[in-house]
This record gives sequence, structure tokens and C-alpha cells, in this order.
Amino acid sequence: MERFLMFIDGGWVEASGKEYFGVENPATEEVFAEVSSGGAGEVERAVQAAHRAFREWSESSLDDRRSLLRRAAELVEKRAEEIARYLTMEQGKPFKQSVNEVMNAAYALRYFSEEIFRVYGQVIPLPDREHDSVVIWQPVGVVAAITPWNYPVQLLSWKVGAALAAGCTIVAKPPSYTPISPIKFIECFADAGVPRGVVNVVTGSGRNVGEYLVTHPLVRKVTFTGSTEVGKRIMSLAAQSLKRLTLELGNQTPMIVFDDADIELAVKGAVRRSFRNMGQICNSINRIYVEKSVYDVFLEKFVEEAKKLRIGDPFDPGTDLGPMSSRDSLKKVVEHVEDAVTRGAKVICGGKRPDGELFRKGYWYEPTILADVTHEMKVMREETFGPVVGVMAFESFEQALKWANQTEYGLVAYVYTTSLKIAREAARRLEFGSVGINNVDVTSVEAPYPAWKESGLGHDLGRSGLMQYLETKHIKIHY
Ligand code: NAP
Repeated sequence: MERFLMFIDGGWVEASGKEYFGVENPATEEVFAEVSSGGAGEVERAVQAAHRAFREWSESSLDDRRSLLRRAAELVEKRAEEIARYLTMEQGKPFKQSVNEVMNAAYALRYFSEEIFRVYGQVIPLPDREHDSVVIWQPVGVVAAITPWNYPVQLLSWKVGAALAAGCTIVAKPPSYTPISPIKFIECFADAGVPRGVVNVVTGSGRNVGEYLVTHPLVRKVTFTGSTEVGKRIMSLAAQSLKRLTLELGNQTPMIVFDDADIELAVKGAVRRSFRNMGQICNSINRIYVEKSVYDVFLEKFVEEAKKLRIGDPFDPGTDLGPMSSRDSLKKVVEHVEDAVTRGAKVICGGKRPDGELFRKGYWYEPTILADVTHEMKVMREETFGPVVGVMAFESFEQALKWANQTEYGLVAYVYTTSLKIAREAARRLEFGSVGINNVDVTSVEAPYPAWKESGLGHDLGRSGLMQYLETKHIKIHY
């Protein structure tokens, strides 16, 4: 069985106790590889290495940083299919989408390698003529990056790209369900000649490796993407030493379709963002509010289009949807659908494991649409993180906005309308960090991905995402 090691202080190493954990293919339930299981000792070595490397890397020229990030991006692009093969095997997304994810990761590295040149300082005019206030930005220090399994390469690239461009060194802890594709991504940095200690990877459990990292006194910043529950725990642990924090957490995503919307476009968006990656995206749609007069026509077309999605072997080029990523994820989906049905929801599409020999093993579930839903149901209140969506009719703008905002989360919401006035008003009043108007693709590397309310703190991406790896310094000069 193939084995994968950790990258610490410029070398590939095993855990001191030589323990490994298995990685399962969610399409077949077969354990196909083993990954080194790190602990406190490996975290210590990695953080010490990152700390030693920090001084030199933080003072490296922007040109050197750009060259490294570009060389790594080139290798990621060159090896995209190899990395994507592992990604599909451990996560389950269709191979074409895995290649796409890896290419997007390379793009993020290129973006941050350039954006750092546009982080300008300031000279602030003061009331007297004898002083100047100069503001510069300096790298925060050693960064711990903890990431989830749904986009394990892309989400890591946002953090590694920004941290390295800013002059920080980093210790990454990939998710235990999908550790291999992030390791292969980091291998591109190793092969691109990253200086010793600047990038490190420690694999192992979140409770163990993750918490050692979050509490290590030499780690100055924690950047975490994952569930709100774990985010809160990390925040409390990081508070002990007031570490800088970026938390990109869960969501309960509403979509509002007004009666003047382009219904074909809205249906296309609903299908894409409810079911892509089996609904395992932080911005996957959980609940759709449709204005009463177009509810029936929307629902009919939505079901018609959802039924066209092909679920099957993720390596088959015709496949739209693979399996869910784990037994636990599937269990939650089944539980949420059962809860909804018990409370009176009607399954109008899916609602079960697909039929056929291929689906006997693995974590399969059909794309599922629920009608006659209420806000008491889990699907309408919690993050299902699966291919399940509830659809409900609304009667007025105020009602739709009230329902959409009625959640502790605040990451993303979508609105479909052809009225500029409605679009403007809805975008302003929705209490979410991103609002997609007539589109469901709100993440752009160039723009921030802000998390409001219990969806997080700070954010990845864009110039302001890069700024999260920099500390402000005020230098006051007397002439
Ligand atoms: P998770 O259970 O919170 O795990 C995320 C990462 O945290 C994993 O690497 C995990 O390690 C680690 N971890 C677990 N417990 C920890 C602890 N006590 N201390 C430190 N680290 C710990 O989340 P997930 O199930 O992987 O991902 C799904 C969630 O991520 C969803 O809620 C989704 O909305 C959210 N998400 C948010 C965004 C965004 O940008 N806002 C993007 C993608 C996903 P192990 O794997 O070893 O347990």
C-alpha cells in the first residue's frame, strides 16, 4: 500500500512512533493508502523549523517570493492530473472537477505572488511640521493552517499562497479524510526549492496535531477553515496567547428567487449550487425561497434539471456527481431527510441511495429536493453539507428577507431578480459576507470571502485576505 510522509524542516519524515492512518476511497470504501500520523513531537519540530526560517524568509525580496510561488504554481499545473487523481480517490469529486480545483490552487499562488507588490504603506500627515507618521506592514510570524476535506487543495492554496507572499512561514495540518492531495500540493513547493522550514506539513488528527498547533507559543497566527463548532474551540484555545485568527466556518445558505427573475437562470444556479460536490461546499444552497406566483414553475423545472445529473464513477468523464466524502457525511444527510419527512416534508426528487450494483458500496445519495418544508426542519436550520435542499414559497420581499436572515450563520446568500432596485435592496439587507446576484459563484481569488456572524472571523482571499498575514507598524519620525 502506498505511504505518505510529513514534510518538516525541508525533509520527508515519518512520525517518531511510526504510526500511520488509512485513507479510504468513499466510492468503494476501500482503504488505498496510509499517511503518517503525527503528534506533539512532529508539531514541535515543524513549528521550531518554521520559527528558525522566519527571520530570513520575512526579509526575503518580493521578487524571490514571487519566483518561488511561480515555480510551485508551475509544478502544480504540470502535476494537476496526478494530484487530482489522489483528490478524487480520497474525496470522491469527479476527476474533471478535481483537476479544476488543482488548477485553481495554482492560480491562487500566482495571484498572491503579484498582489503582495500592491500592499502599499502610508505616510500620514500630522498637525505639526516636525513629525511624520509612517505605516508599514510586516509579516505576522509562524502561521498554523488547518483545513477541511471538501476542497483540500484549493483551500490550502489560499492560505499558503497568502502566507508565503506576506513573508510568513507556515505549518499546515491537512484534513484526515483527504490528506494526500494536500501533501502532493506541498510536494510542489519542496520540488520548487522552498527554503528549509518555510513550508511544513504535519498530518494527524485535529484533536491532537490541530490543538498542539493552535496552542503552541511560537505560532503567531491560526488560519482555519472548517466547521463552526471546531472554529469556536480553536478561538477559545488561541485566546490563551491572543493569536491572530482567521476563521472561515459553516453556513446555512439561502437563495431567493423573485417573480421577475430569469427562471431558467435561477434553476441553473440552484442545480449547480445545491448539488455540486454533493452539496459539500460552505456556500451550497440549503433552502430556496421562491415568490409564490413562480413557485410551481420553478419547482417543476428544478426537479427536471436535477434529475438530469449523472451520479456515478467519479473517473467517468460523463459523471456530474460522485459519492459523498464519508460515512459520517452520508449519515447526517439521511438523518436530515428523515427529520424533514417525519415533520411533513415531501421528497420530490431523490431521497435515497441510487439503485444499481455500482452503488452497493460507498457513500452514495441522490440529489434531493424537498417541498412542503417548514423552518422547524433541520434542513432549513442546520448545515446539512450534503445534496439536499428545501424549497418554500414566500409572499413578500420583507418575508423573504426575514426568513433568509433568520440564521446564526452569515457566509453567503443568493438572489435572483431582474430588478436593479430589488437586487440593490436585498444585497444591502442580507446579513451575509457575500451575496451573489443572478449567479452562484461568489468566490473569486481577487475579492474577499468575508464571514459574518457565526460563519467566522476575518477572511481569506483578495487584498484584504492577504493583509490578514501582516501586522501594522506605525513609525513616528521626528525631523
Ligand atoms: P472540521 O471537522 O471542523 O475539520 C476541519 C479541520 O479541523 C480538519 O483538518 C480537522 O482535522 C481539524 N480539527 C478538528 N478538530 C480540531 C480541533 N479540536 N482543533 C484543531 N483542529 C481540529 O470541518 P470539516 O468537516 O472538515 O469541514 C466541513 C466544514 O467546513 C463545514 O462546516 C463547511 O461549511 C466548512 N467550510 C467552510 C469554508 C469557508 O470558506 N467558510 C470552506 C469550506 C468548508 P481532522 O480532519 O483530523 O479531524
